Formats: sequence, structure tokens, C-alpha cells
Amino acid sequence: MDYLAGLNPSQRGAVEQTQGPVMIVAGAGSGKTRVITYRVAHLIRQGVDPFNILVLTFTNKAAKEMRERIMKVVGSEAKNIWMGTFHSVFARILRSEAELIGYPRNFTIYDTDDTKSLLRAILREMNLDDKLYNANHVYGRISSAKNNLISPQEYNKNEAIMAEDRANGRPQLGEIYMTYAQRCYRAGAMDFDDLLFKTNVLLNKHPDTLHKYQHQFKYLMVDEYQDTNFSQYLIVKRLAAVHENICVVGDDAQSIYAFRGANIQNILNFQKDYPDVQVFKLEQNYRSTKMIVNAANSIIANNKNQLEKNVFSDNEDGEKIKVSRAFSDNEEGKIVAEAILQEKSLKSLVYKDFAILYRTNAQSRSLEEALRKLNVPYKLYGGTSFYQRKEIKDLISYFRLTFNPNDEEALKRVINYPRRGIGDTTIEKLMVAADQNNYRLWDVLANAGSILDGRSATAVVNFATMIQSFQAVAKNQSAFDTAMHIAQHSGLLKSLYEDKSVEGLSRYENIQELLNGIKEFSEREDLEEKGLDIFLQDVALLTNDDKDKDPNADTVSLMTIHASKGLEFNTVFIVGMEENLFPSQLSLNSRSELEEERRLFYVAVTRAEKKLHISYATSRYRWGSLNNCEPSRFLDELAPACLELDFKPRVPAQQESGFSSERMAWQREESFSKPKPKIVKTTSILPKAHVPTAGFAPSDTSGLQVGMEVEHERFGFGKVVNLEGNRPDIKATIFFKELGQKQLLLKFAKLRIV
Ligand code: ATP
Ligand code: MG
Repeated sequence: MDYLAGLNPSQRGAVEQTQGPVMIVAGAGSGKTRVITYRVAHLIRQGVDPFNILVLTFTNKAAKEMRERIMKVVGSEAKNIWMGTFHSVFARILRSEAELIGYPRNFTIYDTDDTKSLLRAILREMNLDDKLYNANHVYGRISSAKNNLISPQEYNKNEAIMAEDRANGRPQLGEIYMTYAQRCYRAGAMDFDDLLFKTNVLLNKHPDTLHKYQHQFKYLMVDEYQDTNFSQYLIVKRLAAVHENICVVGDDAQSIYAFRGANIQNILNFQKDYPDVQVFKLEQNYRSTKMIVNAANSIIANNKNQLEKNVFSDNEDGEKIKVSRAFSDNEEGKIVAEAILQEKSLKSLVYKDFAILYRTNAQSRSLEEALRKLNVPYKLYGGTSFYQRKEIKDLISYFRLTFNPNDEEALKRVINYPRRGIGDTTIEKLMVAADQNNYRLWDVLANAGSILDGRSATAVVNFATMIQSFQAVAKNQSAFDTAMHIAQHSGLLKSLYEDKSVEGLSRYENIQELLNGIKEFSEREDLEEKGLDIFLQDVALLTNDDKDKDPNADTVSLMTIHASKGLEFNTVFIVGMEENLFPSQLSLNSRSELEEERRLFYVAVTRAEKKLHISYATSRYRWGSLNNCEPSRFLDELAPACLELDFKPRVPAQQESGFSSERMAWQREESFSKPKPKIVKTTSILPKAHVPTAGFAPSDTSGLQVGMEVEHERFGFGKVVNLEGNRPDIKATIFFKELGQKQLLLKFAKLRIV
């Protein structure tokens, strides 16, 4: 069978063009990811060694799915392809090369919690105001420096950056960055951004190593290239420099990670970097109905900055997009849950066919509640994941210390858990001793006798001895046996077992589940390295969507739009389409931010194959208080012909833009009702029916002037705010009390001056 049969001619062209730089910039659902998958299979069929192929995907899950598909064409050879996210692939490379840049091979990967906890400790030590120097903000600043390859030294030397920090009242950011980097280094730890930053350092400082990987990766492919940041861009560029067999695919209209440093220019500049690039266009969307593709096109047309693309679908016309209005977030949840049950039975679908997408994680609560009430099984992506639970992090911290005893964040977590008489003051003393002499914490522990009094010193030395004994076990035993040994001998299992409360029981069960997971891992046949250290690395790099215990379970998926990139579902619900939520309040300051929100909406809409539902609530709890909400401006941008409203709009249907009128009705309500806060019920804000006065006809409005009060047959009373054009085609802009602003052609308007 022709394994390339499932491709259209342009896709096939891109697959068969295996040599030299290739770029595919194409719209959503046009088969970009499919092209990469087939291309890898094709390369292997052509005799390329899978070890020479590097594929960078957006999630580990995407890599896993791709590998499974390729396996079907080329068999088990597919196991040997280097494939995964940037972070996981380069963490793996750093494991073998870390010593070259002064890190232990068993370096720890600090997750976001570790990073923030370390930053908070540093801020405390420096006596900085934690409101001004908020840990999240500081983290963002450091992250952005790293993603632009600015080292702490460069940061502190850079006048422009320092001036910016001073102007923002945070002159000490440079110092914090420096200390943070030193502390990570001392702890033998890298944070997520370091995995890319240090890879760049490695490839930059060690030409031999660069050379080795340039020759290893004869073929490079990058999916979702529009969301790469500078650090990622440079790694790819360096690695591809010798063979230049680099294929990138992406869609500028789906670039949604600028806030994390992604740079849409990377895709726009690809042609400059590789002047002989072969560009392939894919224009046919295979995923969605015509209705959905048209709606998506109508949204993205509002963005000024975009590459010209023509996306069409040959699929069925499909159903219109259903827009629902709820009076509260809870009612919205109910509408969605009921619609899922209804469509599931009507169209013989399964739960897995449905996804609910939202702008922020916090929105999941009301949806979850509604789904639970109706017994709809669901899976939440990106919530507090299993590996973030306290007891799991505690046990994992023991594992981390075993492999990297300098890991200070792990040490702080467990040195006195379960309790062993090492108090906060003792820990403080140890940290200070380490800081002052720039010793590694582990060395301080071993010499605790010289810093601490007798009893504390013994407790600390006993702890250190225990960790050493774990190290000995880890050397000789399997991942599972080591993990079990540590769980028992650290005292953690016993302490959880003794807690007979419901929470205690569930914590104990979670630990069991973790151990089961490690058991499965140590028995996996597709892995060569199955040590507990490798398991640890996997865990640190799993993105939430990968922590999926049972990928085949039949559940509705709940996730943020950001997490839904690249995925597809039969039926999609986009909820919370309200101003200040989507687009987010934080994005309203500049065109570029608003355009990024719009791209996010485009991503959401294009996840749907057959049917799309959009909903908004007119009131919602946010930050603990009930707020009135107005419909999102993005609703106005959807082609009206694609929409089906399942409610009566506040304004007569013949009015053109239902949502802008809705919005104005809302604004009016809002300004009338201020300052008293109120809960708005749907019915209470419907305009009161206007009782027309008898005898309306287009009347003599020749004397009409701006500022005059008028009465319209249907729209009621209003005030003229603008007049434009020449007789007889004068257009009046009138602000109607009930309905907000409208433009009317005077010669037809049934209007009278009052
Ligand atoms: P996104 O921009 O959302 O990442 P994409 O461009 O990567 O989308 P794919 O996910 O590769 O698109 O493809 C979208 C859907 O269309 C998939 O279900 C894929 O299997 C299907 N598809 C793509 N090309 C073809 C084709 N030539 N024939 C049949 N189905 C196709
Ligand atoms: Mg894709």
C-alpha cells in the first residue's frame, strides 16, 4: 500500500522534499502535523536512521501520538527517533553533557513551585517588599531574560535593562537574578528556562559537542514553530547549521505564547535565515465543517498583522455555531452540561468527542459542578495535578535528594518531614553557613557538628547518613525497589499510614499510586534506561496534559485554550465569551496584545470538527465578587450568517450587530444602575417594549441638529450625537435611551423631534 496515499498533492510535496530547508505556513487543520508525521515515516522508509531524526513537538503527548502513527508505517524502529518537546529533548542531552558546563549529570529540574519558593527565600533575605518584588513578577522577568539569552552578568551590565528596572522602581532585579542563578547552580538545579538557556551555553561554548549533535541530527523538524522563543530558535538554528535539513511548520495566526517570550518573527524570518527555503502552502482544512472554517476566517480577518492565507474546507456545510447567553456562570455550566447530554444521545457521540475550552483555569469550577450534577464524566487538564500534591512532592523530594544531595529546595521540604527534631532555626543556620562560605548545602550538613549544638548536629548528621544510605540502594536496585525503600525508611509511609483521617487515607493512597506508577515504569519494555533518576526527569518535564493516567477513558475534556493547541474534538464549547475575560482585561492595552487574544479565539474555534457552541454569562463571580459582564467584542467579529442564537436578543433581530447592541444595552444598564451593585437577571435587562406613539412617518427633520432630542417609532427616545453626509442622504448617529447608539438614514427614519 502506498503509505503516502493519505496526503494531498501539496502535503505530499512537502513530505517528499526531504533535503534542504522547508517551511510550511498554513492555517489550522490543514495537515501540518500530519505532514511532519508522514515526513518522518518517509525518511525512515528512505533509509534514514531514526537516530538521526529530531522532531520537536509542542507537548509530549503530541510526540507520543506521532510516534505511534509512525510505528504503524515503519515498525519498532520508530522508538529510536529523537522526539519530544524542546524541554524534554534538551534535558536528555544536558544529562549526558552537564559536566561540561559545571553541572552534575543528575542535576535537578526545578519546577515552577521550586523556583518561586527559592525566589521568595531570596527576596526575604534581601529584605525586599514582596508586593513590589512579587515572586511571580520576578520569575517572569528572569524567565524573559533567559529566553532572550541574557545571562545574569549581561543583565547587570546592560544599561538599558537596568534603567528600565530603575524606572519601574525595581532596581534590584539584576541582583536577584544573579543570586537566583548562583543558588540554582550551587544546588545543581536548572529551572525550565535553564534547560534551553544552558543548552545554548553548551552549544556555544563547546564546538565539539555542537559538532557532534549537528552530525547526529541530520534531519530536524519543528511543529508549532510560531510559538518558539529566541532561545529555542537559536538551538534549532545551531543544530541545523551543517546539513540544513530543517523543516518547520506553523501558523502565524495561532501564535499564542508571546507572553512567554514566543516570537512570531521566527516564522516570518525563516526565509531570511534560509534564502533557498522551499515554501509549501496548505490551504485545505480537513478538520472542520465549512461553517466553522468560515467563522474562523471571519475572526482572523480582523487582525492586521498576519500572513495572507486562504483556508477553505471541502467538508459538509455543517451546523451553525450556537451562541447561548446565561445569566450567571453557574447557569452557563448547566447549559453546557445539558447540551452535552442532549447532543451525545442525538448524534450517538461519546463523551470523548466533547471539549470545553476556557480562557482561565479558574473558570472550570462552575463547569465541573454542573457536569458532576448531571453525572457527566470529565477530565480536567492543567488543574492541580497529581504530581503537585504535597505528599507526592514530599516523596519525590527524597528521590531528588538521593540523586542530587545539593538540591536545596528538596532538602528544605523534607529535612524535618517526618519530624526529626530539626527546627527552622537549625535549617536557617545551615543555610546561612552555606551562603556565607558559598558551600554546597550538602557539605554543610556533613559538617554540621562545627555549626550546630550537639543535639541538632546529631539529628542533621543522621539525616545526611540516611540520604547516603538511599544513594547506596539506588546504585544497585531497580527504580521501584529504590522508591519503596525510600518511602519506608524515610518514615514517610509510616507517618501517612498513622494519619487515619480521610485526607490522611487519601494521601496514603496517592503515595501507593505513585509507587505503582514507578513499578510500571521500571517494567516498561520500550525504555533502555529505567532508573529512578530517569523517572524523576520524566516527571519534572511532564506537562499537565501528559499526566494522563488513562488516555482511553471516555470523558469530556476541560482545558484552557492555550492547552488545546493542536488538538481536535467533534464538538467544542467555548465558554465565558465576555469582555475583560476574553479578551482578557490584561490584553486591552495594546493592539498586539489584543491581536494575540484574537489568535487565541481563532485557535479555540478551529479545534472543532463538527459543531461549535459559544456561551457567555451576564454576571459572573470573579475575585470573590459578583460582576456584571458584557458579551465579548469577538462575538461581533463572527460572520452573522454562521450564528444561531438560542436566546432572544435584547434588540430586534433586524438590527445588524446584535452583540454590539447587547453591549450598549449593558453599558446603559451599568451606568444607570451605578453605584449600587446588583445581580442582573436576564429578564430584567431586556429592553422594555416601546409603545409607539401614533402617527409616525418619515417626518420633517430638516431642522435636526446635534444635541436635539428625538423619538423614533421603534427605538424610542434618543439624542442626536452626530450628523454626516449631504441631503438627501444625511446619516444621523443617535444615542437611544433603550438601545444605545445607532446610525440612521434620515430620509427613511421614522423619527420626530421632541
Ligand atoms: P493545527 O493548526 O490545529 O495544529 P494542523 O495543520 O496540524 O492543525 P492536522 O492536525 O495535521 O492539522 O490535521 C487536521 C485533521 O485533518 C487531522 O484529523 C488530520 O488527520 C486530517 N487530515 C489532514 N490532511 C488530510 C488528508 N490529506 N486527508 C485526510 N485527512 C487529513
Ligand atoms: Mg498541528
